[in-house]
Amino acid sequence: MTIDHPSYTGKCLCGAVHYEVNGILDDPHLCHCGQCRRQSGHFTAGVGAKRAELSVTGEDKLIWYRSSSFAARGFCSACGSILFWDDGSDRVGINMGSLDQPTGLKLERHIFVEDKADYYDIDDDLPQFIGLDQPKKLTEAGSR
Ligand SMILES: [Zn+2]
Ligand SMILES: [Zn+2]
Repeated sequence: MTIDHPSYTGKCLCGAVHYEVNGILDDPHLCHCGQCRRQSGHFTAGVGAKRAELSVTGEDKLIWYRSSSFAARGFCSACGSILFWDDGSDRVGINMGSLDQPTGLKLERHIFVEDKADYYDIDDDLPQFIGLDQPKKLTEAGSR
């Protein structure tokens, strides 16, 4: 089978870093963790790509900030756009806002909801998770 065009493309605000994904993107989510909050100024929308299906152009403009013992966050050194999250596994996280439109993707869940900032509420019906994958009990008093 031949793929004659990438499934997805994306770029930073200034265009110095752009990328293609020749494959599927999975697990579109909103991450409410404190690191995403500080880096983005709010929360981030992320999606996963297979490393082997992602090709990046302008990598010399990409800066990797090691945000934890297991992962680094890639952003454009020229415009500051946050683009990637990489834990060294076979999947790379992509910040969904950098994808070219239309994506055809739909958000599926919220993660790290326990770290959510206090100035907003999560008011949709998507599943909420504590950390990456522990379902939040929606029957808890006062939670929603
Ligand atoms: Zn840029
Ligand atoms: Zn996060």
